Amino acid sequence: MTQAQGQRPKAQGRSAALFDRALRVTPGGVHSPVRAFRSVGGSPVFFARGAGARLFDVEGRAYIDFCQSFGPLILGHADPHVARAVREAIDNGWSFGACEPYSLALAEWVARRLPWVERIRFVSSGTEAVMSALRIARAATGRARILKFEGCYHGHTDAMLVQAGSGLAGRRAASSAGVPDGILNDTLVAPLDDLEALQRVFDADGATLAGAIVEPLPANYGLLPQRRDWLAKLAALCAAHGALLILDEVISGFRVAREGMSGELGLRPDLVTYGKVLGGGFPVAAYAGRADLMELVAPVGPVYQAGTLSANPVGMRAGLATLSKMEETEGWSVLNARTARFCAELAADFSRAGVPIDVVSHASMFWLHGRTGAPVRRVDGIPASQSAWYGRLFHAALARGVYLPPSGFEVSFLSMAHDDEILGEARAALAASAQEAGQP
Ligand code: PMP
Repeated sequence: MTQAQGQRPKAQGRSAALFDRALRVTPGGVHSPVRAFRSVGGSPVFFARGAGARLFDVEGRAYIDFCQSFGPLILGHADPHVARAVREAIDNGWSFGACEPYSLALAEWVARRLPWVERIRFVSSGTEAVMSALRIARAATGRARILKFEGCYHGHTDAMLVQAGSGLAGRRAASSAGVPDGILNDTLVAPLDDLEALQRVFDADGATLAGAIVEPLPANYGLLPQRRDWLAKLAALCAAHGALLILDEVISGFRVAREGMSGELGLRPDLVTYGKVLGGGFPVAAYAGRADLMELVAPVGPVYQAGTLSANPVGMRAGLATLSKMEETEGWSVLNARTARFCAELAADFSRAGVPIDVVSHASMFWLHGRTGAPVRRVDGIPASQSAWYGRLFHAALARGVYLPPSGFEVSFLSMAHDDEILGEARAALAASAQEAGQP
């Protein structure tokens, strides 16, 4: 039990009553684990409504929301342009299980702008997208093994629920029960930000790798920006050893920029996965990449993948409305500049308040941790106090009407709806919360 759990305040009110009921019908009372507040302690807030940058709980209290559904809502909650597109879609029937023009429009929108997207296939979750990309990599290369990196999350497909033990040659342990040993043997795990370890893993096992998968901006274990030369070396080693480079842009795609991290880094992935912003908050994800690889997928090729609700027309139109509005308003540059300003001011507020906190940010995402001497690029560089400290910060912020993601290892997201006035209000609340939370 973490310290935060040990200090769990007794929950009261309507949210607590709803959670008691939820516990009787759903494992842990939630449909996705982080929502249960276990890593920050306390009882989860039940939200009834979202509008712009704000969420409203079941008692009508407002919160400035920096979770934004863990990333998809780049325009904020209930954006009117997206809402119009969705209403129009619903009026015309919401699932056909057949060909329709809406997925074609979204597929063409993406493929015309992202040169590495020669073909794209829509699915309903990031997990499915990754699972399907791995299947293609194995089919295309005739190899079984996949290299992943410690601290990167790629959804809950069995092969990706593996963490490193100590060191590359060390014991590998599944990070979930129910994952068969046989699957662990085909997943190698290496540390991030370690050029020598990368070289060693390819020297030893490069010829057996179907592919390497990485979040080009790791954002599932804090925000751990990688050095360009490390990512470039990974790409070069993949090419030299005939392993496919799979960039998992489920968070970073259409978030950091229209072209995602692939564009920012000048990397051309063999396969790429998208989700979150692509569907504007609806269950939409995709895998995409080189035509020769993607043409291995059914019905043209031998790799099977299908989905009853794939390319659901409501999600397709929400995604297209989101992306086209971002493009028309030059949203990415506006939002990234606003976030950079906000994070610089927030860091100054923390300094003035005398609390040693680093504000790590990239594009419209940020992550807070206790001050370290150097940038944190690996899981083992995260301060040991992170969980307990963040739990205190989270609750201090919640009490002041700011909803941060309910785990110290999740990143915060800004949306286009976070205007300067709202951000000013958030800064004041976060500075006071940091003082209350004490030393990280
Ligand atoms: N890959 C990455 C990089 C992710 O961040 C996530 C989800 N946070 C996934 C895959 C899995 O996506 P989903 O939750 O839609 O299955």
